[in-house]
Amino acid sequence: MAGQVINGKEIVASIREEIKAEVSELTAAGCQPGLVVVIVGDDPASHVYVNAKEKACEQVGVHSEVHRLPADTTQEELVQLIHSLNQDTRIHGILVQSPLPAHINEEEVVDRITPEKDVDCFHPVNVGNLMIGKKVGMKPCTPAGVIEVLKRIGTEISGKHAVVVGRSNIVGKPMAMLLLQENATVSIVHSRTPDMTAITRQADILVVAVGKANLIGSNHVKPGAIVVDVGMNRVDGKLCGDVDFEAVKEVSSAITPVPGCVGPMTITMLLQNTVNAARLKSKAH
Ligand code: NAP
Repeated sequence: MAGQVINGKEIVASIREEIKAEVSELTAAGCQPGLVVVIVGDDPASHVYVNAKEKACEQVGVHSEVHRLPADTTQEELVQLIHSLNQDTRIHGILVQSPLPAHINEEEVVDRITPEKDVDCFHPVNVGNLMIGKKVGMKPCTPAGVIEVLKRIGTEISGKHAVVVGRSNIVGKPMAMLLLQENATVSIVHSRTPDMTAITRQADILVVAVGKANLIGSNHVKPGAIVVDVGMNRVDGKLCGDVDFEAVKEVSSAITPVPGCVGPMTITMLLQNTVNAARLKSKAH
């Protein structure tokens, strides 16, 4: 029997309504949350993501600014801009869109964002806080979105075996950390794992973040597992995930579609981080 296709759009819409209410409350109290996105160069996909973020801000009432910088922007110019945004009291969240041109040292740019405004949760201080489980209001957007989806469909994460495919700094590793915080037993598999299927087949919750279309087939999945597909791949101009959706749908108890779930959830968590940062700032005054 085919499993449930998780209705990401519905979940996203209801969380954005909640965020909108929080934004109105903060705005009425004189602290409208503000997000700035910095984009360097003309990568078309990045511009699409940035436009989506701008639109999402508008939808919930978050003040948004976009700095569209030319591809030949220097490291110094970018760092100088970050410095001024760190001081800007209208801005609570700073996001530098990846990828940056090759001549820019991305790590240094991320390090220069003040951790209180690091809404991507990439700054080493926020990564460290995640590791030790310190609650600071910032959560890594994509993994936090996955946890939220699992909770909103009523998944009991505690005690479950969660397997994460992929170990990147932006998805796999923080995903494993958040699942651990939810008391799952967590395994991570990656390109050097010899018999990945033997491990993924043990998963009650399988989160896939690799970047290879159709890598995960029904043979990788335990019947009844919940499968979350983070992957975003373009095949013949069409967006698809890392999971063979049609095949895995037949064995899983629930599965996220691509597009329409983790992508918009990631932006939703970005809004939430911005609101949390604004709330913390307003409490500090
Ligand atoms: P990444 O940095 O390229 O990492 C990919 C990971 O997959 C690596 O850890 C790699 O292992 C592992 N891997 C590669 N081939 C494998 C294989 N055959 N078997 C098992 N593991 C394998 O990618 P990422 O940034 O984490 O992104 C992953 C996917 O998620 C991409 O499609 C990306 O576009 C998508 N994504 C979506 C969102 C969203 O908002 N929906 C956000 C972020 C990313 P090694 O470490 O051993 O090389």
